[in-house]
Amino acid sequence: MKIVPISLPTPFYIGPVNVYLIAEDPITIIDTGPKTSEAIAALRTGLKDAGLRVADLRRIVLTHAHEDHCGLARALRDEAKDAEVLVHSWETGHRAGRLEHEDNLRLLQRAGVPDDEIGAMRKLYEGVRQYADSLEDDHCRELNDGAELEFEGGALRIVHTPGHTPGSCSFVREADRTIIAGDCVLKRITPNPVISPDPIDRSRRFRSLAEYLVSLARVRSFAPTLVFGGHGEPIRDFEELFNRYLRLIRERQSRIIDLIPKSGATPWEVSRSLFPDTDDVHRFLAVSEAVAHLDYAHSEGKLELEMSDGREVYRQISSG
Ligand SMILES: [Zn+2]
Ligand SMILES: [Zn+2]
Repeated sequence: MKIVPISLPTPFYIGPVNVYLIAEDPITIIDTGPKTSEAIAALRTGLKDAGLRVADLRRIVLTHAHEDHCGLARALRDEAKDAEVLVHSWETGHRAGRLEHEDNLRLLQRAGVPDDEIGAMRKLYEGVRQYADSLEDDHCRELNDGAELEFEGGALRIVHTPGHTPGSCSFVREADRTIIAGDCVLKRITPNPVISPDPIDRSRRFRSLAEYLVSLARVRSFAPTLVFGGHGEPIRDFEELFNRYLRLIRERQSRIIDLIPKSGATPWEVSRSLFPDTDDVHRFLAVSEAVAHLDYAHSEGKLELEMSDGREVYRQISSG
C-alpha cells in the first residue's frame, strides 16, 4: 500500500499543502487542497503521474476541514460521481464558515476582541471561505476513532487527534508505523490551534492546547518512523519534534504569564502584546493562540480568571 504525497499550491500564507494519494482499491485521497484552478490542475497532474484521473477516486478523506485541506472535496466528489467523503463529526469548516456561527461571535467577544476587529475578522474570513465549497451532511460519512480505512492490501487506523481543530484526525499504517497527521504535526512550525466552540457544549470553548498535548502523546505512543504532515517535508525524527514542541509550548506559556500586567488582561490584549505587529487574518490566529495558552495556564492553576462586562480578564495568582 503505497502512500504518494502530492504538493498543491495554496493562496495562503502557509504555502503549499500536502495531500496523500493511496492508489489502491478503493482509490483514496487524503485531503484535497483549496478550491483554486492552480490546485486542481496540480492535483490532476499528480493523479495522472500515478495513471489515474479524478473520476477514479472512490474515497475522499479529510484530516480536518480547513479550506486548504477540504476546499476541493465537493468538486472532487461531484466529478468522481459520488465518491465517499469521510470527515470527523466534530469538524464544521466544510459545512459552514467558522466565523458565521453565533457561537464564534460569542467566543470572540468573551475573549475581549473589540467589535470592529470582529467585523474585520468576519470580512477576512469570508475571503478565505471562497476557497472551499460546502458539503451537505448527507455527502459525508463519519471518521470514527479506532476504526480502520480498509484497502485491498492493508489498512489505515483512524486516530482522532484533536487540537489544531476539534475533529482533526490522523491515519496510522501500523505495519511500518507511518502516520499521516494533517496539521497535527508540522515540520517547521507548531500548529496553531483555532478558537472553536466545544463540540460537546457549544457555549464553552474547546480546550485546544490541553487536547493537543494529549494528541501529541497519542501520536508518540505509535513510535512513528515516518510522519506525513499537512505542510512541509515528512518527519523522520518524531521524538526530536515532540520534545521541541513541548519546549516551545512551555516557553510561550511562561512568556504569556509574564506579559499579563497587575491589572489583568483580556485574551485579546494578551494577543496584542504577544504579537504586536500582526494584522489581517493573523490577528485571529494570534487571539486563538493566546486563548489556547490562557485556558491551559488557568487549568493548571497558574492564572486567575474573572469576568468583567462579559469579557474574560486573566490575572497572575496573587502571592500571599
Ligand atoms: Zn489546518
Ligand atoms: Zn493546513
